[in-house]
Amino acid sequence: MSWGRVLRRSLTMKRFFKNIILALTTAAVLLVVWHLFWGRLVPFSGMFIGFKDVGSEQVIVFFHDDREEARAVAALARSLLPEAALTLGILRGRTVEIVLCKTEEEYRRFTGSSTRFVTIDGRIFVSPRAMADAKSGVIHLRAYLAHELAHAILAQNRSVTALLRFPAWLDEGLATSAAGQIGLDGYFDEDAVCAWVREGRAVTPSDYVRHGSHAASIAALPENDRYHFLYSEFALFVRDLMEQGGRGRFLGYLEEVNKGADWREAFVRTYSAAPDEALAEVLARICAEDSAKAKPHGAKKGRFPGL
Ligand SMILES: [Zn+2]
Repeated sequence: MSWGRVLRRSLTMKRFFKNIILALTTAAVLLVVWHLFWGRLVPFSGMFIGFKDVGSEQVIVFFHDDREEARAVAALARSLLPEAALTLGILRGRTVEIVLCKTEEEYRRFTGSSTRFVTIDGRIFVSPRAMADAKSGVIHLRAYLAHELAHAILAQNRSVTALLRFPAWLDEGLATSAAGQIGLDGYFDEDAVCAWVREGRAVTPSDYVRHGSHAASIAALPENDRYHFLYSEFALFVRDLMEQGGRGRFLGYLEEVNKGADWREAFVRTYSAAPDEALAEVLARICAEDSAKAKPHGAKKGRFPGL
C-alpha cells in the first residue's frame, strides 16, 4: 500500500470516529433534554410541560384538566403548612410545588415510583391512584399530604452534605408521626406494632438508613404490611423522642442531621445512647405499657425477643 493510500485511509478512519463521537454526544444531549422536560429529571428541573397551574406564593399545584381539584389540593396544602412548619421547627423557604399526574404512566415516567405519592427534591408528585383512593375514602388525603409536606419542607431545608446522609428511618418516622398516621389508613397502631415487636420483628434504625433498604430484618417482614409496620414503628420512636426527650432537644437533633451531621454521632451527642439501643428501650417501654393495658390483672411484663 502506498503512503498516500495509508494517509487517506487514516483520515477516513479519523473522520469515521469523529462522526461516531459526534453522534453519541448528540444522542446523550437529546436524552438528557428529553429527561429534563418529559422524564426522570423533571422532579429536579421543575419544568412541567403541558401542565396548567394554580396557587399562591406558598403552594403551587400543577395539573392537566381538573382546575377545581387542583384548587382544593392547593387550599388543603396551604392549610396544613403552618402546623407542618411548627412540628418540624422549620421556617419554610421555597414555594411547595405539587404535581397532579394525569396517568400512572406519567407518574412513573417522572418519579420511577409505583407508590401513591412521592416527594423528590422538595416537590410532591401525586399519582391518579392517590386522588381516586382519596375520593373513594380508601385513604385520607389530608394525612397523606401532611406526610409529603413534612418530607418536602425538610428536603427544601437540607444541606448538600445531608442529601445522601439523611436517614430514611428519621425521614419516614417524622413524616408519619407529624401527619398523625399512626393507626390510620392501614398504618399500624401502637398495639399492632407491639404485637410484631413481641414476635421479634422490630427493625433498627441502622437497618433502614436508605429508602427501599433490603436489610434482612426488613426482607423478613410480610411484604404487604412491611411499610405500614416500619413507618409506624419509627413514627412511635420519633413521637417518643419528642414527648419524653423534649421537643427542643429533638428539633436540635433534626436540624443538625438536616445540615449534614452524621445521624448516629449526633444522636449519641443528643441522647447519650446509640439510636438502635434507644429504639429498643422505647419499644420495650411502650409495649410493656401496652400489654399492661391489655391485661391489667397481674399480667407479666412482655418479653421482647430481638431487642
Ligand atoms: Zn414518606
